[in-house]
Amino acid sequence: MRFGRIATPEGMCFCVVEGAEGAEVCREIAGTPFTEPELTGREWKLADVRLLAPMLPSKIVAIGRNYADHVKEVFQKSAEHLPPTLFLKPPTAVVGPAAAIKIPEFATKVEFEGELALVIGQACKNVKAENWKDVVLGFTIINDVSSRDLQFADGQWARAKGIDTFAPLGPWIETDLDSIDTTNLPIKAHLTHEGVTETKQDSNSNQMIMNIGEIIEFITASFTLLPGDVICTGSPAGTAAMVPGDFIEVEIPGVGKLGNPVERA
Ligand code: MG
Repeated sequence: MRFGRIATPEGMCFCVVEGAEGAEVCREIAGTPFTEPELTGREWKLADVRLLAPMLPSKIVAIGRNYADHVKEVFQKSAEHLPPTLFLKPPTAVVGPAAAIKIPEFATKVEFEGELALVIGQACKNVKAENWKDVVLGFTIINDVSSRDLQFADGQWARAKGIDTFAPLGPWIETDLDSIDTTNLPIKAHLTHEGVTETKQDSNSNQMIMNIGEIIEFITASFTLLPGDVICTGSPAGTAAMVPGDFIEVEIPGVGKLGNPVERA
């Protein structure tokens, strides 16, 4: 099942998104996706509503350096010498599909990072790797937008990765966990610059250092996760700079596509 959050002429709501690509219908549900969905009977064509970020998390916990090829391209070191690390992105960085990524003047090298994201379904702590499906509501996509200049200048990653609009999230949450093979999942990012579209990231989750279960165990050893919290599972290689006027689209088969324009803040 796919859960989205939409703005309609009558307000905002969670919905179930059904139908083939290009002909989707959004059926409103009462309440939230955390309980058995109850349809209200109201529905709209997706083309007639605006998709919002599918969830507003209390926090976004992200794993950094989880793909060896990306470690090498950003840090010029092998992953054996630079293990995965955790960082937080503030919930105020979240924007939905098609909303602009706004780059402030002081961020001079801003890159996209297309990543598989997990949405947590229940409060949890100390989850064993093999039990990860018990606590995950579903999959979505995040663009872990990162100001590479600030990341290295600051040491701490909070500012580089936490600027408003630096966490595009969506387009919806796929809750059929068994429909996605997280050990062999293509992850692509297509950048359109001056009218020319190039596929910059073209990798696969089979390059992850920590798998989904290990990530959940690692994170919940430290953090209590709450319903709606979002986990970023790491970016593969191919990240590159974006500038105002560009358009960035992250694509993960079975989950969807997340596209955002880039503007000057
Ligand atoms: Mg990242």
